Amino acid sequence: MEEEQDPLWLFGDQLGPHIWSRGDHEERDIILVESQSAFTRRGGHRQKAHLLLSGMRHLAAELGDRAHYQRAAGYREALIDLGRPVVVYEPTSWAASRFVHRLADEGLVSEVLPNPSFALSRIDFQEWAGGKKHFRLEDFYRSQRRRFDVLMNGDEPAGGRWNYDHDNREPPPKRSTLRIDDPWWPTEDDIDEQVRADLDAMDVEFTGADGPRLFAVTHEEAQSALTTFIDQRLPTFGKWEDAMLSKDWTMAHSLLSVPLNLSLLDPLDAVHAAESAARDGSVGLAAAEGFIRQILGWREYVWHLYWHFGPEYLSHNEYDAHTPLPDWFRDLDADAVTAHCLSDALAGVRDHGWVHHIPRLMVLGSHALQQGYDPAELTEWFRANFVDGFDWVMPVNVIGMSQHADGGLMATKPYTSGGAYITKMSDYCRDCEYDPRTRLGESACPFTAGYWTFTHRNSKKLRANQRTARSVASMTRLDDIDAVVEQENHRTRF
Ligand code: SF4
Repeated sequence: MEEEQDPLWLFGDQLGPHIWSRGDHEERDIILVESQSAFTRRGGHRQKAHLLLSGMRHLAAELGDRAHYQRAAGYREALIDLGRPVVVYEPTSWAASRFVHRLADEGLVSEVLPNPSFALSRIDFQEWAGGKKHFRLEDFYRSQRRRFDVLMNGDEPAGGRWNYDHDNREPPPKRSTLRIDDPWWPTEDDIDEQVRADLDAMDVEFTGADGPRLFAVTHEEAQSALTTFIDQRLPTFGKWEDAMLSKDWTMAHSLLSVPLNLSLLDPLDAVHAAESAARDGSVGLAAAEGFIRQILGWREYVWHLYWHFGPEYLSHNEYDAHTPLPDWFRDLDADAVTAHCLSDALAGVRDHGWVHHIPRLMVLGSHALQQGYDPAELTEWFRANFVDGFDWVMPVNVIGMSQHADGGLMATKPYTSGGAYITKMSDYCRDCEYDPRTRLGESACPFTAGYWTFTHRNSKKLRANQRTARSVASMTRLDDIDAVVEQENHRTRF
């Protein structure tokens, strides 16, 4: 008689067929656990809770008798109740990883398998990382392109260039929206209705607003979202990927970060779809390269550096920033904010749990850096409030890229700017009470004045960095810098 295989326990971010149908898993029962304590302990955005529950329940419905869906006080209780050991993939955070290894010690987990949600394995990353002390995306990205033979012609990059960033940084067109086809939108069903009712009944303080589901939660939906993006939106994506328009929150972005981070899609499938479109000429190479860089480059880089740097990475604080997040920021109170760009970014987080990478980096992150918000607290804020913000996503994005709190382990300089950048890359400043050219007085733009104040506060460190030394030199030539710093140190309104 054949021995029955241990069931496969899937977390809520391990939902695609490339996860549960690979190898011998076809034969295994699937265990999905809705843990009450996971929600009550961590809260977070209401729409993220909806996506996770909806995704798990849709998978259970799709798998039918093969799935065992358990609602329990916690994961351990569910596994004890099951009465059989389970196989599990390495989860996506340090805390969860320690937890499943404890469950293995207790005999509730029989095997912890490598996580298959990313193209590059952790072992291969460690080999690539070797003894490196500093990491640069471009090196990693090129090695990924070569290793997976993506957009390559033999040993050379297709088109003769690795990087099309220069073509992909155009300001927005002079109209209120891009006027391109909509992204794929889901249609809610009975499962979503039940999820909404269950979340209403839960005694949990979620952040953000409820709203119609905006992201894919099944593999089929994720495929539709990918196809719509490649066919209808990718051609426009590249050149305006950094641009912002106040009346167009999605611009030409793919909205695939949620289905990718729920592991509904194999990242290489998304990469190959974009590559095929570039090869058959239906999209430009620059647009395809920009998208592939996000998935095969940045997303994989962030995942691997999360593990490589370890949990102590969160304690880095290069600029000694300890300001607690103000209540209006923590509460996503966009109406309390005058600055048009900042108010709109906060409203986007409140209403969708998502804004694209430039409002994240150059509005929310830049504001936080200028104001000296505590980087670990800010990282947790991003994790909790973004629908694609899982534990592994935010440390490198926030501590490393946005706040430069790690002192340059994975980026060469802090990303912040005055109002000039936001003026160039958006339509926000036209309808703002502040003036992006002004740093002193009633109409002083908080980004422009904030930029100089940040530079002044950290001039010693910024002067020592080749890439920021010029900003310090410019700051020292401002004859009103002391007054600007005094004004910003007492600013109560943003
Ligand atoms: Fe933002 Fe300043 Fe422009 Fe207002 S003027 S939208 S605060 S950059």
